Amino acid sequence: MKYVVVTGGVLSGLGKGVTASSIGVLLKSAGLRVTAIKIDPYVNSDAGTMSPFEHGEVFVLDDGGEADLDLGNYERFLDISLSKDNNITTGKVYSSVIEKERRGDYLGKTVQVVPHITDEIQNWIERVACVSSDSSSLPPDACVIELGGTVGDIESAPFVESLRQFQFRVGRENICFVHVSLVPVMGPVGEQKTKPTQHTVKELRGLGIIPDILVCRSEVPLIDETREKLSAFCHVSPEAVISAHDVVNIYHVPIMMDKQGVSKLLSNKLNFKLKKDRKLLDDWEIMANHVNSLEEIVTIAMVGKYTGLSDSYLSVIKALQHSSYSVGRKLIIDWIESNNLEDEVKVSNPELYEDSWRMLKEADGILVPGGFGSRGIEGKIKAAKYARENKVPYLGVCLGLQIATIEFCRNVLGIENANSAEFAEDTENPVIIFMPEISKTHMGGTMRLGTKSTPFLVDDCKIRRLYGNKSHVDERHRHRYEVNPELIEKIESAGLVFVGKDETGQRCEIMELKNHPYYVGTQYHPEFKSRPNRPSPPFLGLLKAACGIEI
Ligand code: GLN
Repeated sequence: MKYVVVTGGVLSGLGKGVTASSIGVLLKSAGLRVTAIKIDPYVNSDAGTMSPFEHGEVFVLDDGGEADLDLGNYERFLDISLSKDNNITTGKVYSSVIEKERRGDYLGKTVQVVPHITDEIQNWIERVACVSSDSSSLPPDACVIELGGTVGDIESAPFVESLRQFQFRVGRENICFVHVSLVPVMGPVGEQKTKPTQHTVKELRGLGIIPDILVCRSEVPLIDETREKLSAFCHVSPEAVISAHDVVNIYHVPIMMDKQGVSKLLSNKLNFKLKKDRKLLDDWEIMANHVNSLEEIVTIAMVGKYTGLSDSYLSVIKALQHSSYSVGRKLIIDWIESNNLEDEVKVSNPELYEDSWRMLKEADGILVPGGFGSRGIEGKIKAAKYARENKVPYLGVCLGLQIATIEFCRNVLGIENANSAEFAEDTENPVIIFMPEISKTHMGGTMRLGTKSTPFLVDDCKIRRLYGNKSHVDERHRHRYEVNPELIEKIESAGLVFVGKDETGQRCEIMELKNHPYYVGTQYHPEFKSRPNRPSPPFLGLLKAACGIEI
């Protein structure tokens, strides 16, 4: 097993995840089967209890793991499927060690960070690295490990120490350390500053890890002088100082790294042969150029809750982008704060209200993504109503399906005050109810989570066609509420048909409105399985309909 460890310095948000994923692509194109592990030094067991507005989206895995969004990057870049064990957190490591301690596994010993926590981390990595993550079912040849946070943080210290020890466990010839840093450009002549990188490498080396490759994030390509200076001060050969300058789209990153010799560096360090056939990288280049070449615009209005962190909806954005590449359009997402479509704002801030409505009306398609809590719900219901009545393509994901159902019950079936028990616990007309099996006492990992099968119940409908007329779909879930089974018949007889239900035939999974160009909702989150060259079918449907392409 070959390991590539990606650490980061200076500041967070440098694109370590994209670097790690791109290295994975290079390894894969060299003919290796690649898997990935993300280490998150926070104390939460998983990302499921964290706010997406602070931490970025919660990425859901097949086995129901609620993980950091970087696992989504790995899945999309490497076309693999990971499990919850591919995301290691301080919370998980300590839980496991404490459980063993209670069981008596360390009987007689004082349980300590070194060696017990650090051994646990290393054992975990070795165990998970061998688990197949692609369709071959064969064990991987290489594992990319990304350490979250910044080297030097208190929280990440046990992980850095584990990785330091790990190089001796697996042999120096089987592990490559990549450190991602920042080279700011300052002053009137745009001088590339190396000091922050010098400091972070010094810190890393002080902890016993000598980087083999330095990936330097900067606005512009590194000049030779900078490269040489970094090489001299950071004890890395000049050719191992890689310039990760800004590029027009992320698909260029693996290509940019390959052109600077990263594949060669990896193959020398880890002692594997590079394949002559470069098809995978050639395909990436074609895709990267295709993305650049798109000109004609398609606009999708995203009606949700925002705090300015677009990472909160990362997979949804990716799924829209993948679909836009497929229909050959340049995607513009208009972010609409759903609150601003509500009547109250018409009074308090008429300009904002008008602007928001104008944006909604000018969009080619409307998307209501997943969400929790009652803020902005009425605005989303208004957006769903507008899309239904004006035959504007609409996709509702999870909460978006529930919203469309509430709207339909209120305005088509005339069920006054129809609502979800999530927003009005004692509502007289609960159209969306709490699922009976869900815990009311524990929040972490207790939703209906992960991949479940949804059989289609209707022979011919748009969404089934989009899925290639399959008998069923396997998509990922994350919810606590569902459409009230008692109302299904009534809703369906008025034209909103639940064309896919779960295997019991009770739980609504996919809805499609009759006599509408595209009005679809899914209780699951199709965005998590979208791939650059295999866009998620419900999203592709939205984009096709938004471009006037028949489905
Ligand atoms: N809040 C809703 C539920 O729990 C929708 C969840 C979601 O959109 N992921 O059912």
